[in-house]
Amino acid sequence: MIAVSLLPIPSRISALAAERDALSLYPEERFSGIIRDVRFRCTSCGKCCTRAFNGHVFLLDRDVAAVRSIDPCALEPAPDPEFCDQNGIFYVSGYALKVKNDPDGSCWFLENNRCRIYDRRFSICRIYPYMLHREPDERGKVDWRQISGLERHGGYDAEISLEESMEIARETIAYEHAFLSQQIAFLECVQGLFLKAGLRHVQKIYDGQMREYRSGAPITVMAYYNGALEKQVICRNHDER
Ligand code: SF4
Repeated sequence: MIAVSLLPIPSRISALAAERDALSLYPEERFSGIIRDVRFRCTSCGKCCTRAFNGHVFLLDRDVAAVRSIDPCALEPAPDPEFCDQNGIFYVSGYALKVKNDPDGSCWFLENNRCRIYDRRFSICRIYPYMLHREPDERGKVDWRQISGLERHGGYDAEISLEESMEIARETIAYEHAFLSQQIAFLECVQGLFLKAGLRHVQKIYDGQMREYRSGAPITVMAYYNGALEKQVICRNHDER
């Protein structure tokens, strides 16, 4: 199976749309049963709010608006942009939360292992560690995954009611649906721009620009937000790994 990220844009859009269709067919009751079987309980270890454990926190458009109203300094273009054109400009599907310069790369909003905006935390923070998407396992077999970091954080002894598990299942499916829709909208936006402006992705320029970025040079990234691309000039934090 070829990774979606290696396909031409129209094929990527088709693959993501197929994924969204498959998601719509996944029975909520089955997901809800898995949630009750796993019995996950948050132990407030704070691990999931660090780059060391979880990579980056990707934000849906609605979350970007919320971050801007809370603290715009907490935003940065998501890492690993999808494209770089022949002029060295990168394109990425959205924003992520910045992390602090501490050893674990704690989220901008994490203080003393607690989220300081807990009541206003973002979509992915609300559903974590639940997920519902297809991924290859260590042997390359693609299947649905419903929980992230199983047995690497939290406890597994919670009594979760049917009502609560159904609520989690619905919220997680809604998140995954919104995420796929945002990825598709980003690809359509880039596809339209590339066609109109005679641009194309050039992997060699992507790799060269990334090397420059890692050595401290600024790069220009067009970050997708709400149907448009926003220009951002970023430099790598010298402590970033
Ligand atoms: S916003 Fe809060 S819950 Fe979300 S990753 Fe940051 S500290 Fe954790």
